[in-house]
Amino acid sequence: MPGRAAPRRSARAEPDAVPENARTGPATIPIDHFEKKLWPIQEMRRNMEYLDLSSYEYLEFPIPMCSIGWLGHEHGVQDAGAPPPAATDLEQLKAASWPEVSLTLGWHECEFCPKGSTFKGNGEYHYYMKNGDVYSAPMMITHYVEEHAYRPPVEFMEQLKEIGELDWDWRAERLAKILLDESEDLISRSRGIVDLANWKDSRTLDALKRAAQDEELADIAGDEIGRSLGLLLDCEFAADLHIEDFSDFVRFGISQTRREATVPGQPGVC
Ligand SMILES: [Zn+2]
Repeated sequence: MPGRAAPRRSARAEPDAVPENARTGPATIPIDHFEKKLWPIQEMRRNMEYLDLSSYEYLEFPIPMCSIGWLGHEHGVQDAGAPPPAATDLEQLKAASWPEVSLTLGWHECEFCPKGSTFKGNGEYHYYMKNGDVYSAPMMITHYVEEHAYRPPVEFMEQLKEIGELDWDWRAERLAKILLDESEDLISRSRGIVDLANWKDSRTLDALKRAAQDEELADIAGDEIGRSLGLLLDCEFAADLHIEDFSDFVRFGISQTRREATVPGQPGVC
């Protein structure tokens, strides 16, 4: 976890909001499960600094994205000095900055914190906009805004105001297709699993259920499948979902999401 008080979502469900059937997963997963999957640690050692609105290229990803908030020493805190975001805009950014995706084994430390109080992160947030744009930011983006006067691009902040339920589109189609494509390697198939839950659609549920039945895929990405399923549990089309039918890893992911889930009405929940 981050080394200092992390900027987190402001509205979280109380523990009582976690359905009893979502608590049936294991409390922890053995560390070797994580060591054999996800993004190899050497990927964390590549360049992590990109200009705002440049094409995302940190990791391979099936959907084109724009980079925002990938700060480093070469370009410094981009757009620092611009007026601070309104409190409502900051809350909107925090609310949209969830769930974390593309988690890595390595951690990236904030390059702007004084020594001894370093903030660090190991994942990203992906923001799927209604107009088809997708943005990727390191999970430290809200820390950069609050602690280092970083100002995200105006067009991104404006689009955040419209963020919400998405209609099934080519992005969802591509993520679902790759997830179920057995000719793709397992890492590529697993990269968009959590992102797919941005579409609260029965086609998302079908794809996740089929993925959970793929033993090889579920072995390395069962918890991601569960995290994504956890975002659909409140949807009407998921009423017949039986959590007890899934593996421990999938149920672990479901319980993880349900612990983190925000109140209904926030992005990311039905
Ligand atoms: Zn910092």
